[in-house]
Amino acid sequence: MDALFARIDSKREDVTALTQALVRIPSINPPGALYTDCAELLGRRLQARGFEVRYERARGTPGDSDQFPRTNVIARREGRRAGPCVHFNGHIDVVEVGNGWTVDPFAAEIIDGRIYGRGTCDMKGGIAAAVIAVESLLELDPDLPGAIEISGTADEESGGYGGVAYLCEQGYLRKPYVDHVIIPEPLNKDRVCLGHRGVWWAQIETFGRVAHGSMPFLGDSAIRHMSEVLRRFEDELYPLLASKRTAMPVVPEGARQSTMNINSLHGGQSEAFDGLPAPMVADSCRAIIDRRFLIEEPLEQVKDEVRALLERIASERASFRYALTDLFEVQPTLTEASAPVVTEVSRAVQDVLGVEAQHVVSPGTYDQKHIDRIGRLQDCIAYGPGILDLAHQADEYVAIDDLVDSAKVMALAALRLLRGHG
Ligand SMILES: [Zn+2]
Repeated sequence: MDALFARIDSKREDVTALTQALVRIPSINPPGALYTDCAELLGRRLQARGFEVRYERARGTPGDSDQFPRTNVIARREGRRAGPCVHFNGHIDVVEVGNGWTVDPFAAEIIDGRIYGRGTCDMKGGIAAAVIAVESLLELDPDLPGAIEISGTADEESGGYGGVAYLCEQGYLRKPYVDHVIIPEPLNKDRVCLGHRGVWWAQIETFGRVAHGSMPFLGDSAIRHMSEVLRRFEDELYPLLASKRTAMPVVPEGARQSTMNINSLHGGQSEAFDGLPAPMVADSCRAIIDRRFLIEEPLEQVKDEVRALLERIASERASFRYALTDLFEVQPTLTEASAPVVTEVSRAVQDVLGVEAQHVVSPGTYDQKHIDRIGRLQDCIAYGPGILDLAHQADEYVAIDDLVDSAKVMALAALRLLRGHG
């Protein structure tokens, strides 16, 4: 253990430089730019260390084009003796920059022991830490049993269809090739993330009838119908959601219940006009809802609550007409706390940081869903450096100490899993 920790400590500059090199490739999604550059940077490095490297372009998945190919990289290093396979998966895409930055988001500047830039925390720092962890392990013991895989995948920020989902469909990330999966998402270095809540996105549209705005009584306002939907959400649905608590250890605490965000609302004339609008009664109003649900809630029940509410309004309110359209759904996923990867990463957190690992569940979804549903691998967690709250924010950063510490945790956990202690 001491030799391993010393080896990783000696690679402090290396893990910093690899994080910087990845961050300096602005692989922003959408549109999904420069995935090939990121994938090749990882592929070249791992190939030089004895990994067999494959590139898989997810042709035909959303956003894939010759200009923006969905390039994924999978590197596998087979040991000389049989044993399990530990897989580290990180997404190479980052979200748009947004406003409010005080540093160059793609310079990967170091200030006070932190690397700043888009993707430092979510999650190129995590990928770099995993690479350093694995390289250190193999330098100390080239005869490790089993296999190690590292993948850099596309499109996590837009659902993972051109990334992990695609790889799972192609036969990667499943038994018997892979046994344990660690996704170094930024969940804080002392936390082990067991899974995530479910997601249901839907559009509600209310309908009306156009008329001159000076005589609204001759028409029927879709916006007023929608206002009734919103009122009933406040009076009926939100109190119901607040009453549903989960046994999942979701963080932050506020997400330990069912939640719903109204993502957008639009009624009447398009906002894209110059000058004054024409006086019209709105014949359509659309709201997009983003409902996050608990493992205790069946998805059909989640949908029925909204459907029943709309039906009640329809039975009480004259000329109320609506359409409810599913847009997107993800089932919750939860790895057992007794699973080998959870046990070993938690033990390694204790050994490296001297604190008990906190088991958490993410309020939002990430690529674990595909590994669970398509790859049918249940021994999967997210564990990685970086502060969760910084993801997607301006002046995102990762602390170099956290990169080093989390690399130690990942290396030690992988070592024990490969040697079969898991
Ligand atoms: Zn992420």
